[in-house]
Amino acid sequence: MYLYNSATHKKAEFTTHTPGHVEMYTCGPTVYHFAHIGNLRSYIMEDVLEKFLRYEGYDVNRVMNITDVGHLASDADTGEDKMLKGAKREHKSVMEIARFYTDAFFQDCKKLNIKTPDVVEPATNCIDDYIKIVSTLIEKDYAYLAGGNVYFDTSKLPRYYIFNDHDEEDLAVGVREGVEEDVNKRNKNDFVLWFTKSKFEDQALKWDSPWGVGYPGWHIECTGISLKHNGEYLDLHCGGVDNAFPHHTNEIAQSESFLGHPWCKQWFHVHHLNTNTGKMSKSKGEFLTVSLLEEKGYDPLSYRFFCLQSHYRKALVFSWENLSNAQGAYQKLIKRIAALNPKDGEADAAAVEEYKQKFLQQVGNDLNTSMGVTALYDALKAKTNDATKLAILGSFDEVLSLSLLEKAAALREREAAQATSAAGGYTITGEGDAAVDALVLQRYEAKKAKNFAEADRIRDELKAQGIEITDTKEGASWRRV
Ligand SMILES: [Zn+2]
Repeated sequence: MYLYNSATHKKAEFTTHTPGHVEMYTCGPTVYHFAHIGNLRSYIMEDVLEKFLRYEGYDVNRVMNITDVGHLASDADTGEDKMLKGAKREHKSVMEIARFYTDAFFQDCKKLNIKTPDVVEPATNCIDDYIKIVSTLIEKDYAYLAGGNVYFDTSKLPRYYIFNDHDEEDLAVGVREGVEEDVNKRNKNDFVLWFTKSKFEDQALKWDSPWGVGYPGWHIECTGISLKHNGEYLDLHCGGVDNAFPHHTNEIAQSESFLGHPWCKQWFHVHHLNTNTGKMSKSKGEFLTVSLLEEKGYDPLSYRFFCLQSHYRKALVFSWENLSNAQGAYQKLIKRIAALNPKDGEADAAAVEEYKQKFLQQVGNDLNTSMGVTALYDALKAKTNDATKLAILGSFDEVLSLSLLEKAAALREREAAQATSAAGGYTITGEGDAAVDALVLQRYEAKKAKNFAEADRIRDELKAQGIEITDTKEGASWRRV
């Protein structure tokens, strides 16, 4: 596939260190609150990317961290500790908060058909790994101790601003915004690897380290967890675009300084979900969660469908109206799929493969998911039998994960049940074809009205179509003979 790489600012053919195998890392949630649907947009697009790579034939090892320690309100290591803030808000311990919101996160993911990564690692599980990396960074003179904390010295790197085309001054403003200066830092972009001198007296989670009792900085956890589970060469690192700087910049700085060689080849950043008033955040405006969507009567998969309709590198504007439109289109799509007859012929494997190749090419152009959605409508219009159409749709859904076939089958069943109750308990069991069911029902009604000529006429019509009806205790059953 061709993928835009934020580190090079270019779209290029996706390659891996080991042919056929992808080592993939995703920055996971900070579990101090529910995820808002803007955060979840990133996880949806990353999920599609992972599934696309598997669909292309790659074997993927995907790793994700759970941030349950060390993430401060500002990504530049200042402000309140997020976990502590959550614990205070709910009068619970930090670990209780972490457990609760980790579960909530995966429940949301499940509703959005986001697959759980192969490895999910809470940050607090890997303290020894961070200590080892920080010790090496100090030995190699990339890190220093000041005021009780350990800092990474960004002046030791020949190249630091990897994701940004802006100049140093612009970035520094972004980092400093609304945040107090840390006088221990030698350079303004230096960042904390290990805190011992905590300004949070009530910091709940602390560990022994060569530099005193303390806790790791946020950035080091992703390096530690990725090196532990992905190995020394990472093929693909994902995250929201607001993670690019300083978080991902810092990950690269510490990982490559520790390893002594280039670390991650490709960087994938998903852009913001905006509301009409700007970027979505937990603190501003309506707090939009998956549960809120459900409360308002939306299927979470309508939100997934909404996200797939636009490109991950463009900001997406959320409004209830936009979501309603997406839900309408999604339900219509399911209806059209439900109208296909699974018994209509055998699936034509060559046709399915041909469509798959086209899909790989189109969606493989920088994860063009809106082309993936268009491909679903193309499949519905294909000049082939229904069984083949369903096989193509099922194949595409391995990547898009919209539960298309399951929902269509459920709708077919619901419609059949409704037809039965409309017939006053007359149950028709057949091979799932609404048109045949309707004729069988007409025959029953003709018989009930003692119009035997009409009933026989319908029986003959069905017979001409190769359909045999048997009267049963509950109604009738039919089959193609
Ligand atoms: Zn990270």
